[in-house]
Amino acid sequence: MTTTTTIAHGKYHIWTVGCQMNQADSQRVQTLLDELGWEEASMEQANLVVLNTCSVRQAPEEKAHNLLAKLRRAKEERGDLLVTLMGCMIGNQKTIDELSKRYPHIDLFMKVEQADILPRFLEERWTPISGAGCLDIEYVPDNDVSMPTDSALPIYATSFERGGKRSVLPMAITPKPGERIAHYPTKIEPTQASPTAWLPIVLGCNKVCTYCIVPYRRGRERSRPIDELVIEARSLVRKGAKEVTLLGQTVESYGLDLPDKPNLADLMTDLSEIDGLERIRFMTSYPRYMTDSMIERMAHLPKVCEHLNIPVQAGDDDMLKRMKRGYTLAEYCERVDRVRELWPNISLSTDIIVGFCGETEEEFQHTLDLIERVRFDVVHVAAYSVRPGTVAARWEDDVPLAEKKRRLHAVEELQTKIALEINQSYLNKIEEVLVEEENSAHGLQRWRGRNRTNKLVFFPQPEKTEATATFCVQPGNLVNVRVERVTPWSLQGCMVAV
Ligand code: SAM
Repeated sequence: MTTTTTIAHGKYHIWTVGCQMNQADSQRVQTLLDELGWEEASMEQANLVVLNTCSVRQAPEEKAHNLLAKLRRAKEERGDLLVTLMGCMIGNQKTIDELSKRYPHIDLFMKVEQADILPRFLEERWTPISGAGCLDIEYVPDNDVSMPTDSALPIYATSFERGGKRSVLPMAITPKPGERIAHYPTKIEPTQASPTAWLPIVLGCNKVCTYCIVPYRRGRERSRPIDELVIEARSLVRKGAKEVTLLGQTVESYGLDLPDKPNLADLMTDLSEIDGLERIRFMTSYPRYMTDSMIERMAHLPKVCEHLNIPVQAGDDDMLKRMKRGYTLAEYCERVDRVRELWPNISLSTDIIVGFCGETEEEFQHTLDLIERVRFDVVHVAAYSVRPGTVAARWEDDVPLAEKKRRLHAVEELQTKIALEINQSYLNKIEEVLVEEENSAHGLQRWRGRNRTNKLVFFPQPEKTEATATFCVQPGNLVNVRVERVTPWSLQGCMVAV
């Protein structure tokens, strides 16, 4: 990536909502801006505000709309303010046109893979020059309900509009297989060293779940090559990371689009070789792609933690069909049972949507039955929200909001009971905890971290004994904690040995 030294330095603020992938993308943009000599600041003080948006549900999108309205007012007062929009609110040209009509004060629309436009953009726009700049993005048409085909791979063309004059930048990307993410920013230099780090391994999504906007906004799957990921993981470890979480909408499809087709287990094997990297996590999983051999290989890699996030979305076959999830309930349960056979002590989390189009009381009951049967450690539950442009947006959103809320609370209530029962089985056990940070909630000064099965663990600073006299707990330490109390959401105890 080229950087330029001719840009006057300003202050930036990156606002991020949504998933871990967005957080990872923001860290990359931050690294780029830091390298340009820009300084992080509050939104009020920043000359460049980057909004990294999420469209998966309506609520985060509304937050971005509120901020955009606020930034319009700020921009009226401060002519030097630049506004950039990235993340899932960026779709095809139509969505960009609609957004720029509604918010003419947005100076740049970009996907993370186009972040290398920033030096040029700032060079042209920062020492304030009048006129608007806009980065155009072509992608799958809104109403294309079929699985996007290779011919629909993203083709990016970038252009600037200045005082009505349009000049095309020399940056049109026509990706070839294996080269499709050449522009994903690989450099990541977190300003604060963190013991845990995100490592996006597959970008985009090839599923066409009828409720979901992600494939329309993030494009088809593009795996990042193993070499690039190993280099990036090494650099994260050098900066203090002890754990990396491999990210993808379907991590098991890692490598299918790469020339020599490495798989997730191959990648994990290579990452396991990195000295100083203690733990590897991954999310999210898709049942149909989890082969026995892949599970067995992961289970035998000591650094890979015993936790699987395997979204089910609904516990009823008709619902799964309407959602176009691509598996039946029996297939899902068979995979979960197999994972538990092959990978002892594994903990499981899942995602569930309640109140999807046409969900009857009986169908909802089947979801509760599934939760009882599988006994997940964690359930992330969301009320269905219509996403314009998806297949389901053409169907009637016929479950009333009050009923969606009732179903959501019913899931939460059942899950709270199950999670407490599961967590009670940890009482008096000694858990290996990776210390993440100090926590001072409820007037208590405690350390916070996670055990291998991804449970939050809290423990106080140990009293000084002969054994611990020279040891002072710090983020990044791996410590042993005896569990003395549990809640549905965490384990609490005391450090027992260093
Ligand atoms: N890749 C994952 C999968 O295979 O399911 C999920 C990714 S999605 C970005 C994260 C979660 O958002 C989903 O698991 C789903 O529960 C939720 N979600 C997606 N679309 C939604 C919608 N329209 N309304 C409510 N929740 C939604």
